[in-house]
Amino acid sequence: MSADVPATLRKQVFARAGGRCEYCLLPQSASVYHHEPDHIIPIQHGGETESNNLALACMRCNRHKGPNVGSFDPETGELVTFFNPRAAKWRDHFRLDGATIRALTPQGRVSIKILRLNDSDRVEERERLIALGVYVA
Ligand SMILES: [Zn+2]
Repeated sequence: MSADVPATLRKQVFARAGGRCEYCLLPQSASVYHHEPDHIIPIQHGGETESNNLALACMRCNRHKGPNVGSFDPETGELVTFFNPRAAKWRDHFRLDGATIRALTPQGRVSIKILRLNDSDRVEERERLIALGVYVA
């Protein structure tokens, strides 16, 4: 959700992320859809439109995340918040296994599940991009 993010802030968010989705690491250059600033804590949950609450997200991650803040860990059933790119590093929660993103933490597991990071078409796309040297974790 990114409706009211001012242009200057959008540019800052894009630059800070190096133009890559901060959830699935898809580079903007490999996507026909524009990456958008995602409210990590959505506005409807009290999140603000400020740098520290924004992450660059590809269209698919952004759409699947929607107004959610977390989900139930598929392993423990515990309610867990998503990976927060402002609070932790991607590598602390995920690792790349071939073209599949594996979780290292409960936050990683719920993010993979709800953002559907490993849908088969996304893994296939990642395989192609890795082969081209365009996708790096
Ligand atoms: Zn993404």
